[in-house]
Amino acid sequence: MEKKFALIGYPLGHTMSPFIQNRLFELAGINANYQVMEIPPSQLEGKMPSLLKLDGFNVTIPHKCAIIPLLQELDKTASLYGSVNTVHCQNGAAKGYNTDSFGFLKALSTAGIDLSGNVAILGAGGAARTFAFESVLSGCSVTLCVRQQDITQARELSAELERLSPQGAVSIKSLDQVPENTDLIINATPVGMYPETNASPILADFLNGVKAVFDAIYNPAETVLLKEARKAGARAVGGMAMLVWQAARAQEIWHGISFKESDIASIIEDANRELAHRFGRDKS
Ligand code: NAP
Repeated sequence: MEKKFALIGYPLGHTMSPFIQNRLFELAGINANYQVMEIPPSQLEGKMPSLLKLDGFNVTIPHKCAIIPLLQELDKTASLYGSVNTVHCQNGAAKGYNTDSFGFLKALSTAGIDLSGNVAILGAGGAARTFAFESVLSGCSVTLCVRQQDITQARELSAELERLSPQGAVSIKSLDQVPENTDLIINATPVGMYPETNASPILADFLNGVKAVFDAIYNPAETVLLKEARKAGARAVGGMAMLVWQAARAQEIWHGISFKESDIASIIEDANRELAHRFGRDKS
């Protein structure tokens, strides 16, 4: 029997989720339909009875927090982050999960990047929160590097991180003050994202001596920051790996299966190729 899944958000624009999820359904051998449902915030609660009839759904902006009181159960990671991106529906009840941190950790580990030492996170928004929490939980010293108008959000995040791990070291600097002893730089700003692909959030000078760079941006696959990081001798990985791994984790939750790293690596390549095709960057 065909299973039913969906992505909910508003607006949804050029989402890669159906492409990635359909590839994963194929790989898992699951006969499934994955719908894209634009639901304005005012209609979320009213749509819940029909969403509960699905086998599961993904949740994106602006519903990641608003969905929480409408669910029957939350897993540990979703409670920690106060944010849900995956829902599993069974017998009319829904449990919320957050698979972003799994996606982030897998993107690093499969690229041979350690989450350890001194980590500089650029930005203090939603993605930065995931990266900062996981870095602190892994025992890293974290510097949040932000632009001036983002300082209040950075202070709030820093206070949360200190509550999470009172021994953890968290500091705040500006984007032109990335500390010299940084091991890993994580870009959690949209600087360098399509269509402003010539931009980088930091000067290339800050990449000297850095061991690795993770850029959450997935469009384009190779940002200026990643190109400069490779030139400086650092390991570099882009956001598509995180996007595909968080989707793979959602499917693991829905179907109780697990995927091989080599299969996910080929979906990451296909998704990058599909994105290049959609945005007219095909090399062929
Ligand atoms: P967000 O909540 O809006 O946060 C963006 C952060 O970047 C904020 O701190 C913002 O500061 C800062 N920022 C924005 N424009 C800037 C600029 N021109 N210069 C310096 N800082 C700037 O966004 P998000 O959801 O965290 O997403 C951030 C990036 O991560 C996006 O590119 C998104 O596509 C990517 N992402 C990727 C994945 C993945 O799976 N690969 C998942 C989530 C997000 P202000 O508050 O001052 O605006």
